[in-house]
Amino acid sequence: MNSPIIQACKVAKTFIVSRGLFKGKQTLQAVNDVSISVEPQSVLGLVGESGCGKSTLARMLLGLESPSSGDVLLNGKPVSGFDQKTLAKQVQPIFQDPFSSLNPRKVISSIISLPLRVQGIGTRTGWRTQVEEMMELVGLPRRLASSYPSQLSGGQRQRVAIARALIMRPDVVICDEPTSALDVSVQAQILNLLLDLRSELGLTYILISHNLAVVEHIATRVAVMYLGRIVEEADTQMLFTKPGHPYTQALLQSVLTPEPQLDIPDTHLGTTFPNPLEPPSGCAFHPRCASRKPICSEQAPSKVSLRNGSVQCHLFNDANGSSG
Ligand code: SF4
Repeated sequence: MNSPIIQACKVAKTFIVSRGLFKGKQTLQAVNDVSISVEPQSVLGLVGESGCGKSTLARMLLGLESPSSGDVLLNGKPVSGFDQKTLAKQVQPIFQDPFSSLNPRKVISSIISLPLRVQGIGTRTGWRTQVEEMMELVGLPRRLASSYPSQLSGGQRQRVAIARALIMRPDVVICDEPTSALDVSVQAQILNLLLDLRSELGLTYILISHNLAVVEHIATRVAVMYLGRIVEEADTQMLFTKPGHPYTQALLQSVLTPEPQLDIPDTHLGTTFPNPLEPPSGCAFHPRCASRKPICSEQAPSKVSLRNGSVQCHLFNDANGSSG
């Protein structure tokens, strides 16, 4: 096994939120005791419903948020010791909505070359050459270099966002719902582009999505998040052929619905996603779980190592129930 390129080690993030006038403040546990380890040139899919904490985890991996506890390590070194510019050379994001992440007043060549200019790398002539190379690599015609984002299609805009993320040749790219704002017909093109670029440039991806069909297509491993915790992690093929956690099973059922881009349908789970400010006791999934037992509402399950992965569920805990 290769040494991990990026890791989260028992990472937690809490926010203090206001409950409104005269109601005081409350603690929101957005990420809770999360550990992940990503090998070079692999793709970790991070899945879960909106509000499960996956984007907060991504922001900590990017160094945009500091963990309340725990560490994020890049090549074994805590990212808290990196300045933002150094970290940005090695870890770059691709966000969901290419339109809002691109400056509408700048032309495409200026947008793609921005990281080089911010970092003070190279010369004006060198920037132009690198932008042209990168545009070719992501499948953008050179004639678009002097266009504005509003003149491009959604797919072209996402290719610009990808080119900007890769212009400094980072090692790790964190893709936060990179295709969910695109037409279905364009989504596959962008996913295939990301796969090609991974091989060509030796990239490592963390792919955040609530859509398991997208994750199955591209990820080598999958971590499933629920209310701030990773409840199951496994190789992609194993997770899709034999999901262990009841929540993962429900997610897989949602892939079979006519609109897989939507969150999990209530029909499989009984109740909607709980309020993160008032998480259920014990296993946070218990109000929606068809397999729950009395202990599930009283005690949080511990992590059980399983099949080249892990699961957090009392069904897999020898002391409390049947083994998986
Ligand atoms: Fe369901 Fe209990 Fe497992 Fe939670 S711990 S997923 S409630 S069976």
